[in-house]
Amino acid sequence: MTLRDARERRVRTGGVELCVAELGDPEQPTVVLVHGYPDSKEVWSEVAARLADRFHVVLYDVRGHGRSTAPRPLRGGFTLAKLTDDFLAVVDAVSPDRPVHLVGHDWGSVQAWEFVTVARTEGRIASFTSISGPSLDHFGHWIGARVKRPTPRRVGQLLGQGAKSWYVYLLHTPVLPELAWRGPLGKRWPKMLERVERVPGGDYPTGSLPSDAAHGAWLYRDNVRARLRRPRPDAYAHAPVQLITPQGDAFLSERLYDDLDRWVPQLTRRTLPARHWVPRTRPDQVAAWIEEFVTSVAGGRPAPAATGRHADRFAGQLVLVTGAGSGIGRATAFAFAEAGARVIAVDRDAEAAARTAELARLAGAAGAWSEPADVSDEQAMEKLAEKVHHEHGVLDVLVNNAGIGLSGSFFATTADDWRKVLDVNLWGVIHGCRLFGARMAERGQGGHIVNIASAAAYQPSRALPAYSTSKAAVLMLSECLRAELASQGIGVTAVCPGFVNTDITSTARFTGVDEAEQERRRQRSARLYGLRNYPPEKVATAVLDAVIGNKAVVPVTPEARAARLLSRVAPGLLRRIARVEPRL
Ligand code: NAP
Repeated sequence: MTLRDARERRVRTGGVELCVAELGDPEQPTVVLVHGYPDSKEVWSEVAARLADRFHVVLYDVRGHGRSTAPRPLRGGFTLAKLTDDFLAVVDAVSPDRPVHLVGHDWGSVQAWEFVTVARTEGRIASFTSISGPSLDHFGHWIGARVKRPTPRRVGQLLGQGAKSWYVYLLHTPVLPELAWRGPLGKRWPKMLERVERVPGGDYPTGSLPSDAAHGAWLYRDNVRARLRRPRPDAYAHAPVQLITPQGDAFLSERLYDDLDRWVPQLTRRTLPARHWVPRTRPDQVAAWIEEFVTSVAGGRPAPAATGRHADRFAGQLVLVTGAGSGIGRATAFAFAEAGARVIAVDRDAEAAARTAELARLAGAAGAWSEPADVSDEQAMEKLAEKVHHEHGVLDVLVNNAGIGLSGSFFATTADDWRKVLDVNLWGVIHGCRLFGARMAERGQGGHIVNIASAAAYQPSRALPAYSTSKAAVLMLSECLRAELASQGIGVTAVCPGFVNTDITSTARFTGVDEAEQERRRQRSARLYGLRNYPPEKVATAVLDAVIGNKAVVPVTPEARAARLLSRVAPGLLRRIARVEPRL
């Protein structure tokens, strides 16, 4: 269903006529989407289409925007009180008997904060999802608190937000903004959005942009200064609120929401690695979070709270981990599960993968499945990718973790040994990146790929030529892919652990020695790794942190960090260490 299929009506209120569009079954819970500046209701078209199967979706052009008429005179025609009148008139028309679920972006969110915090709308709003638009009252108190008690950190926060608000000052100048929007800025805006905000082109923004932007300047002039100077002391939300914060928002600092728990009794926080226009750039994720939130509130269940570490970021996201039957892979699957993600555990050992999925469910995953697959088998990986995309959709996070150990000098390593280790450690990663990464890129809504390399990727050793080569290749592949996918909002990270206490020692192969000696060496290295006792859970934590911070290369364990440092400042010393023959 698209906005073109919408039923339209006109709603008269306070001297203006609002253009209201409806999609979906009116018997279902009503979700009202309010657009921001400079926009019209079409900014929501992608999100509305995704919600229309489940909900009665209502969108309207704010007064003076799109196909709604503008108040006369413009000055004083856009106060928050009048915008609240409009909202109530729309709700009276589309959902007179049941409270609605409100969603606002940018100025749509700013005004929706007013709706959800004034007494006259009590009982009319069931929930509110706020995206990139703070309450002016909360903002006023936020500024006041920092001016009254300035610490260096708080002054930094004030200056930071002050710098991000440059356009607000410009919009307060008379006439100039109108001239710019009706002239060159209006013409260039679509291209600017595409280039700077990565908003895909097409039928958005609509032709009404210049007049939307010119009229909308009054949203700022009629409200901002007055409210920031005298914020209401009682701006408490009377409905549960979900706050979606894009981390790369050029106009709003994340710090603005630090004090929000004070104003909102039931607050769910979500963060997104994206810029300001998420209804256009991340419609899947935005729609999924709205759906989850509305469904739980409408069903009388408590709003999903962000409980686990990083649940604000990963709740509901689709994450696939290879080699998830053991060690670092299993711990990583659990960490994502605890953050409320949907987890797919892949391993060549079907039973081990199934066990990981079972435990992930218990750990809090929003869903957990297991798939047996050998990552080195191209056809098996193609089938896996087909199945995953068909049954679950496009991945948000891929962790290429499966790997095997191989130790032995270069001349003791046969061609077959080389093939085996490269097939799993390198080709397994290539297959994963190619098959799952391609869909991520095609979807165009970002994502993240984590490749588990190793400190051996940058620390040479006479004992691990094949293993180290495979991991160095994974490191370089990750760097190249990171460069290629950056413009599509897909992050790529190489995680490089040192010695981690997992089963890898008991399955590793030692070349050039007989089976009995291999077994002895396995046991000895297992003992040494056990003594070192660095838990795989810490690597899992580093994986989640790396995704959140979009880090390029992450050495984990002190020895991995030390080797990384030496590889940069004293590579000669690392080369000398590489010559030492390990005693196993
Ligand atoms: P692990 O405990 O042996 O876990 C690896 C898992 O991957 C096992 O379940 C293994 O199954 C599976 N696997 C192996 N080959 C596979 C294939 N072709 N297809 C699908 N699954 C496969 O090892 P780990 O220590 O967690 O290692 C995970 C990753 O971290 C590896 O890439 C490793 O190179 C890297 N790493 C580990 C350390 C460390 O000290 N542990 C250090 C640096 C880097 P099987 O049990 O059947 O083999």
